[in-house]
Formats: sequence, C-alpha cells, structure tokens
Amino acid sequence: MAAVRSKDTKPEIIVRKYLWGHGFRYRLNHPRLPGKPDIVLTKYRTCVFVNGCFWHGHEGCRFFVMPKSNSEFWVRKIARNRERDSEVQQKLSDMGWHSITLWECQLKPAKREKYLESLAHTLYRIFLEDHKPRKYVMPEETPAMAAEENGNSFLNVDNPL
Ligand SMILES: [Zn+2]
Repeated sequence: MAAVRSKDTKPEIIVRKYLWGHGFRYRLNHPRLPGKPDIVLTKYRTCVFVNGCFWHGHEGCRFFVMPKSNSEFWVRKIARNRERDSEVQQKLSDMGWHSITLWECQLKPAKREKYLESLAHTLYRIFLEDHKPRKYVMPEETPAMAAEENGNSFLNVDNPL
C-alpha cells in the first residue's frame, strides 16, 4: 500500500480494454505530461485518470472510509493526494488538455457499462468540439441551381445512364 497509483491496477485495465475495443488509441503514463496520466488519448487531447476511491478521497463514496486508527495521518495524506490531483488537472487544462476521472467504484460490474459508455460519449463530444469549424459559410451557388441551367446533367454524375 505504498504507492498512490500503482501500475496495472484492475480498474485501469478495465478502462483500457474498453477503450481499445471501441477503437480509441492511447498511451500509458505519458512521461511528459503533469501527473503522468494513466491513459492519454492524444487525438482527443484527453487524459483519463482511474482513481482508487480511498487513496484519492472519493467524496460521498462508501469505499472512502477513514481508518479508525491513526486517522489524523490518513486525513492529511488523502487531503494531500486530492490537492495534487486538482493541481495536475489544472496544469493539464492550462496546457489545453481535458481530464476525465473515473473512480474505482464506477467500474464495479453493476455500474461499469454505464460509466464506460459515458466516457466514450464524452470523448466523442470533446473531439467534435475541438474540431468544430470556426465559421460556417453557405455556398453561394449550390449544385442543384447549376443543374437547372444545363438540363439536369449535374444530378446524374453519381448515377450515369
Ligand atoms: Zn468511489
């Protein structure tokens, strides 16, 4: 129980398998990004963090229960982890990266599908948002108008008879 975020924890593998299976490609523990994010989707400029509910202090979660002994130590430790998490996400955001956090409890068998689907939707939305055309210009002359002038030949381009 020494590391805050150990490598290849089971919840993280669940997320990786889902993403890979749905065509999302990623890098692991990107060394040049703050906080060495677990899963980095370059195409989506998104970092996915898979957080243990206890270590990262998942508020209101039943898996986040302070041990009775030595509780002052744990309170401080978890508070520090949470602080670091939000600093990392702030830095990423300043660099133009999105951060998505998935919690261990959201990856339990009963809830997994719902949260993974919502992760995929969020990624699609981010991609669309990032690639939105700045300005939409209506073409002045549409093919249909041109076709009227020269006997519908324009309309038959895809379907020559
Ligand atoms: Zn939780």
